[in-house]
Amino acid sequence: MEFITTVQQMQRYAEQQRCRGRRIAVVPTMGYLHEGHLSLIRLARQHAEVVITTLFVNPTQFAPGEDYERYPRDLERDRRLCAEAGSDALFAPSVEEMYPGGYTTRVSVLGISQKFEGQFRAGHFDGVATIVTKLFLATKPHVAVFGQKDWQQTLVVRQLIRDLNFDIELVVAPTVREPDGLAMSSRNVYLSPQERQQATVLYRALRAAAERAAAGERRRRELVAAMEAVLREVPALVLDYAAAADAYTLEEPELFAPGQEVVLLVAARLGQTRLIDNERVRLPEE
Ligand code: AMP
Repeated sequence: MEFITTVQQMQRYAEQQRCRGRRIAVVPTMGYLHEGHLSLIRLARQHAEVVITTLFVNPTQFAPGEDYERYPRDLERDRRLCAEAGSDALFAPSVEEMYPGGYTTRVSVLGISQKFEGQFRAGHFDGVATIVTKLFLATKPHVAVFGQKDWQQTLVVRQLIRDLNFDIELVVAPTVREPDGLAMSSRNVYLSPQERQQATVLYRALRAAAERAAAGERRRRELVAAMEAVLREVPALVLDYAAAADAYTLEEPELFAPGQEVVLLVAARLGQTRLIDNERVRLPEE
């Protein structure tokens, strides 16, 4: 596996692959890789001849006071896991490389960025849109693979690709979960043993609402109430939001339409850890 740390080397490598007629897939990550990331790398392989994984803990997508400094990092382990999963290259630039002195440009995707995560994490999606743009320009991919785990992020990236005319196919990979349902996340290492048990409540809440939706419940407030009822089982949980919205516009009508695709979203804090999860459901046709 190639290990690349500068944008110039990365662009040269990508250009060489393109000249040989090879399709490139990129898998952007912040590292501390787990099975969720590795599933993205394997899926990328099905869409392209060359898989480039990127590893960059992007400071600009952390709001002030968030966990940027203590975000878990283990480059040597990531390098090994990435190679084992079949990545052809790992692009792991420094902060100085991505944001050198005098750097001033920011990419903002309006609309879809302003709700949910955008509301609770000031500037988060500007940081995401900016770094994704830079990673696309560094890795020159034909395909980009992102996880459903960060559903709103996939919508922001889809909008970015459309608006800036990136010639890139977006592939969204399913969420990989622990056996008890907890969505895998690099942040799960922050959880104490007790919090780790309690954290399963997010998925149970999503499942409760998804079952109501599958049974024909179309009233948004009822779907949200179904999630909240389960989430209350863990009083220590501090809820940022539990919501049901159109899966693509994130609009929140009082009543969803038969056949509408709905996303159920939860974000909550448990001690020092902020957790997010979501589930998509298509409402039954009448
Ligand atoms: P992160 O390193 O957390 O920024 O995540 C990098 C990519 O992996 C993003 O596209 C995430 O949505 C995706 N991802 C994170 N956790 C999971 C998971 N449990 N299952 C599938 N994809 C995931």
